[in-house]
Amino acid sequence: MDENSTLILKRYFKEYYFHYGERIKAPSEIASREFGYFPFGGAMIRHISFKDIGTFRAALVREAPAGAYCSNSLYNDPTAEMHLKGWKSAELIFDIDADGLKLPCKKVHDVWLCKGGGKKEFGLRPETCPNCKGNRILELTWACPDCLEGTKKETMKLLEFLEFDFGISSSQVRVYFSGNAGYHISVEKSQYETLDSHGRAEIADYLTGRGIMPNFFNSTRLLPNDPGWRGRVARFIRDLPEVNTLFKSTTFEKRLSELISDFSKKQVENFMTRAVSENSVKIDAMVTTDIHRIFRMPETLNNKTGLVKRECSDNLNSFDPTTDAIAIKDDSKAEVMVDIVPKIEIGGSSYGPFRSETIELPLYVGVYIVSRGAGKFVITGQNSALVQKEAQQKVRSDN
Ligand SMILES: [Zn+2]
Ligand SMILES: [Zn+2]
Repeated sequence: MDENSTLILKRYFKEYYFHYGERIKAPSEIASREFGYFPFGGAMIRHISFKDIGTFRAALVREAPAGAYCSNSLYNDPTAEMHLKGWKSAELIFDIDADGLKLPCKKVHDVWLCKGGGKKEFGLRPETCPNCKGNRILELTWACPDCLEGTKKETMKLLEFLEFDFGISSSQVRVYFSGNAGYHISVEKSQYETLDSHGRAEIADYLTGRGIMPNFFNSTRLLPNDPGWRGRVARFIRDLPEVNTLFKSTTFEKRLSELISDFSKKQVENFMTRAVSENSVKIDAMVTTDIHRIFRMPETLNNKTGLVKRECSDNLNSFDPTTDAIAIKDDSKAEVMVDIVPKIEIGGSSYGPFRSETIELPLYVGVYIVSRGAGKFVITGQNSALVQKEAQQKVRSDN
């Protein structure tokens, strides 16, 4: 990213932390947690700790980092090297991201970029570049309102699993918009906190339906009100829209025996694949399994968008990330030289699609586009004063 764009982003982040830093709440047992952050254009700094949230907030205003993180694990010594930290426990966490859903709208809004010839185009990444036949092709993903709605649905499925299959009450669950393209979910004070990585992998497998065998039907008598996956698969079969044309009998139980006797192995497998794909939760299993992770802090800014990672445990249904997660919504404008951007919706308006043009946008829209690496700020008027001020500060702090 060019230096001026970095300075403007940093200024925006600093202003957010200055005005709204109070919203960042201390995690429980703050002194037992590992913190980390990375500056704009710099590498991650980890293995640090804070005794109180005030010191952390002050650090955010001072440093205005691009990302700020805190462990879901508790350690005896959070500042020690990983193997010497003395792991005690960790909240169960889940990450649901639009990209993992592979929705059909991706081919409208995603962009690919050929590293060989520099060709950029909307659509899914081709195997080889049609221009230069090269295969070094980058994918630039975007999340549209459909993608965000999809991740919300996955989040609701997860909450249902947690409650009914794991006995976790909704009061123990915190849901956050990630600040980018999905949701982070964390479970507090549960019996699963001392589970190691392997135990967490089993939870992830269960949620994603990994390893469910198609011959499930033959060995088990399934009923719609059965617990767990058995009930989910039974309800899926019961509620199939084409069920009346597929099956001869009308009662659910007889249909299940038909499924075993009259359908081919291939057909049963197809049912199973569909039942699993519709009922499973598209979590990123790596996040749930990793107990040494530092996770983006709630109410801090996401460097990939400039949006806030924001809690929506109590208002998930009505939460709209495109308006409710904007960090600073004022009248500030910015001129942005936009590279290639699909139609985006933010702050109740839509913008684009754009291709190689310079436009004046609300500052938070400019921040979103520049943070995604799809444009740069043009230094004029207001921006230029900002950049000068920031550059002077930088000189002062470097000395
Ligand atoms: Zn090419
Ligand atoms: Zn989409």
